[in-house]
Amino acid sequence: MANQMLRAAVNVDVDGLYLYDRVHGLTGTSGNTSDFDPAAHDPRAWTLGVPRFLDLFARCGVKGTFFVVAQDLAHREVRAVLADVVAAGHEIGSHSLTHPYNLSRLPADAQLEELRVSRQTLQDATGQGIEGFRAPGYVLSPQLLETIAKVGHTWDSSRFPCPPYQAAKAAAIGLYRVTKHPSGSLPESPTVWFGKRTPYAEMLSGGKQLTELPIGVLPTVRWPIIGTSVIMAGELGRLAWQPLVDRSDWINFELHAIDLLDHVGDALPERLLVQPDQKVSLRRKWVLLLRMLERLAQTHTLRTLGEWAT
Ligand SMILES: [Zn+2]
Repeated sequence: MANQMLRAAVNVDVDGLYLYDRVHGLTGTSGNTSDFDPAAHDPRAWTLGVPRFLDLFARCGVKGTFFVVAQDLAHREVRAVLADVVAAGHEIGSHSLTHPYNLSRLPADAQLEELRVSRQTLQDATGQGIEGFRAPGYVLSPQLLETIAKVGHTWDSSRFPCPPYQAAKAAAIGLYRVTKHPSGSLPESPTVWFGKRTPYAEMLSGGKQLTELPIGVLPTVRWPIIGTSVIMAGELGRLAWQPLVDRSDWINFELHAIDLLDHVGDALPERLLVQPDQKVSLRRKWVLLLRMLERLAQTHTLRTLGEWAT
């Protein structure tokens, strides 16, 4: 029987394969490159990854949130998959218009344009009010928080108070800089590493508030409970954490569409092997995520992020 005091949510960042090239410094800058055509990108995160998540969630009886980079809708096949996601009853959140990793450092008017156009595009495409936002690379700034509220979002789910993840990310960004393949990604301020790990109200100017739903880390040890960490830990790792996960008062289980791609079976580009979890087969990843979700559905009350925000 699920415990009413233990809250959980499940969500998927649908990051196109082109974004992995940017984060690993394989195509240079943040945001769109000059030759990028959103109507012609490799859509397999959408056309293969997302339908597998729909199957997985249906099997576990889970309703989740899919964070969408709005420019991806320029692709015809992406629009068809998004319609399936909506028809299956899942929630859609904005993941910005073009996923610029430096969004938090852009001028206010550029931030406003990214968020306003994304929210409008997604509302038009889905017929849903788009209440929630997740920042590219999870990096916020005081100005970006103001912008999120200004365009009409009522909640955000970008904070990732996870020292092991943030330290590894900062080290990787430094390494890419030295090896002259600058990553598009930005390091997060250490105050966030140790920030609040359960939902709270972010206080904005003029007495306004934005509900923040942080990405899941375990109490005290602050180990991340996200798709990548569950896949890399394998079955033994999952068993080791399970007692802590079972008792955690807030699990915001964050996944990526690439988590259910098969590097070999889907014939993904060789360069994506810089992602260590790409070496794990789809069959194995599926089983690990299925066990995690089935357990979560037993121990926790599962709702969408939008439902928890209200
Ligand atoms: Zn992303």
